[in-house]
Amino acid sequence: MNPLDTPLSLRLPAKLAKKLEKAGIVTVGDLLYEAPRRYYHWGALTPMHVLRPGEDVTILAEVVSARLIPNRSRAGVRFEVRLTDGSSEMTATFFASSPYKLSVHERLLQPGESFLFAGKVGEYRGNLQLVHPEFEGVDDEQATPDIEKRSNRPIPIYSTRGGVTSWVIARAIAVVLDSLDLDALPDPVPMQVRSRFDIEALGNALRLLHQGSTDQDVARAKRSMRWREAFVLQAFLAKRRLGNDALRAQSSPENPPELQAFLGGLPFTLTPSQRSAISAIGADIASSHPMQRLLEGDVGSGKTVVACAALIQVIAAGHQGALLAPTEVLARQHADSIRALLKPLESAGFPLDLRLLTSSTPAPARREIERLLASGMPIIVVGTHALLYARNLFADLALAVIDEQHRFGVQQRDALRESRNDGLLVHQLVMTATPIPRSVAMTIFGDLDVTVMKGLPSGRKPVTTFVVDAGNAVWMERMWQRAREEIDGGGRVYVVCPRIDEDDHPDELLEESTAPLASVTATMEMLAGVPSLSGVKAVSVTGKDNSEEKSAAMEAFSSGQAPILVATTVIEVGVDVPEATMMIILDAQQFGLSQLHQLRGRVGRSSKQSICMAVHPSVISDTSAQRLEAFASSTDGFVLAEADLALRREGDVLGSAQSGKASRLRFLSVVRDGAIIEEARESAGELIAADPSLASYPELATSLNDASSEELVWMERS
Ligand code: ADP
Ligand code: MG
Repeated sequence: MNPLDTPLSLRLPAKLAKKLEKAGIVTVGDLLYEAPRRYYHWGALTPMHVLRPGEDVTILAEVVSARLIPNRSRAGVRFEVRLTDGSSEMTATFFASSPYKLSVHERLLQPGESFLFAGKVGEYRGNLQLVHPEFEGVDDEQATPDIEKRSNRPIPIYSTRGGVTSWVIARAIAVVLDSLDLDALPDPVPMQVRSRFDIEALGNALRLLHQGSTDQDVARAKRSMRWREAFVLQAFLAKRRLGNDALRAQSSPENPPELQAFLGGLPFTLTPSQRSAISAIGADIASSHPMQRLLEGDVGSGKTVVACAALIQVIAAGHQGALLAPTEVLARQHADSIRALLKPLESAGFPLDLRLLTSSTPAPARREIERLLASGMPIIVVGTHALLYARNLFADLALAVIDEQHRFGVQQRDALRESRNDGLLVHQLVMTATPIPRSVAMTIFGDLDVTVMKGLPSGRKPVTTFVVDAGNAVWMERMWQRAREEIDGGGRVYVVCPRIDEDDHPDELLEESTAPLASVTATMEMLAGVPSLSGVKAVSVTGKDNSEEKSAAMEAFSSGQAPILVATTVIEVGVDVPEATMMIILDAQQFGLSQLHQLRGRVGRSSKQSICMAVHPSVISDTSAQRLEAFASSTDGFVLAEADLALRREGDVLGSAQSGKASRLRFLSVVRDGAIIEEARESAGELIAADPSLASYPELATSLNDASSEELVWMERS
């Protein structure tokens, strides 16, 4: 048995083990893998100006003075301790019914001494205070009388939870480390890999992490733990890729005449990256090995036509294809635009059957589609989630395209892939306009092949972006004037709001706001009173509208009959009205960078110059200001994705769905550790390729087994 799996109750006093268990720390491994949140140094006091009321903190502070004060109104006493960080002060207060109960505090908390204090920051008469903090003196005072050594030694600070303070964890760790033969801990990273990349063995890394004598020790330990975590993750993915090699799919020959006719009949010239994406995907589909490919192409890069080419290839071979879109608006638009793209094929004598299946497809049409699916006839079905419910009706589904994949969970994403009942898998093409930075792609999508389409169709001009302070009346007036000019020049204008109406309280708001946020209803009313827009018709689309209302509004907008569309983010993805030349985003501080970029992507879809206005209230947070600044400064989705990564926290990156589970990554950060992930990926790949069964690496094999059953399941949900 792995010593890390030993229950703590066998290693620690029962009471302590119970306490830790309540905090979710059950085994030796749980305890030792507890990553210090930060390190303090004796002598380097924790700055107090960064503390905020309500926070649970552990600080290192020096006692300035301490006095016992009888309570005026109530019986009992309080012991008030002034603490300093060298420049500012705060109070720690202890209450008791009699002075006697505070004698230990009095004896220990002497002026000039430093202690760790843990508790919730409160506020009393404008001053920060800790009420009844737990406190702890320097632990190895006796052991290391040498002042120099003592102040070099990093003090690990662990997250406190369930009443377990940082130093209780530290002491438990010390006991456990003493009782273990650290050198005998099984290490999933083989020795030769460790020496090649200069990684500490597991036991030593853990010792340095918790009890390192210098900052260098700690840095080395952290790197080793991060590297190890990345390595296990990547080995897991590499092994799964290998397992996938045994799987089979329906093959469809490359470059059929239908496809040639389609490409020949396109109204535009394909960009080089569209061409290479089409041929990479074409080769994948021609093989009997199931494709799992992620097509990353910036907003407007023309992914639909690539998907269309792939679908034609399977149809030409007599199979069925599906295109899944996240919204009804988008599914409908895809059906329309693909039909238009397929027109020339029909005249070339290759009629193709394409159907739209959504939750609002009338029953007779739905039954007809279901019948066609079951017949095994070659057919393309474009649809929303409704398609997932019909997945088992396909008699011969060979290719599933998932557009805007980030809108789907993995289970939905993979539902079509695994929908056949003959053991074959369905080729899968997932598309996204949300560029995924490489480090994230390698972690989350480590088992997908990735095709990146760079560049936009020629003749496109980058959208000019302005950040507009809504408090500036002159600017706002000028903005609506500009909208009028765009419309008079034949353009269309989007106005996006974070809310539908006054009753709408979106739960994804990025920033607290005091003023009410722009809503579609209020904006419609407001626009009616804007002088420069008099006589201009506006329509609105929100998630509340039914599908007829939505398509009527989209139709009015796209035809120009109502050249202003006021909408929520329902129009965020995929919507394609080439005449649109202006995007106005109200309360833009409420949207994330990739969302802003998606919204901006609704314009700039023709050779005309387009503009985007990101409107925000006068007062916004620094992060929001930086985000809007970054947004305005680049139109390159990849640059923005990197900027976004830098502005966001870990949990956000991996998606809210698994931010709870993301704690599974204890040491590694996809934001910070791109280089480590890259190294680990390469070396894990080599190792698995050389020894697929891991016969020579039993420790790694064991840890992957454990991992696949527990630690890594979160990845499946990404
Ligand atoms: P996205 O990658 O954002 O899904 P679309 O597939 O919706 O982009 O394409 C955006 C617009 O560009 C569509 O109107 C499409 O017809 C057009 N388009 C696609 N490829 C080209 C090209 N090579 N040249 C000109 N226009 C193109
Ligand atoms: Mg698209």
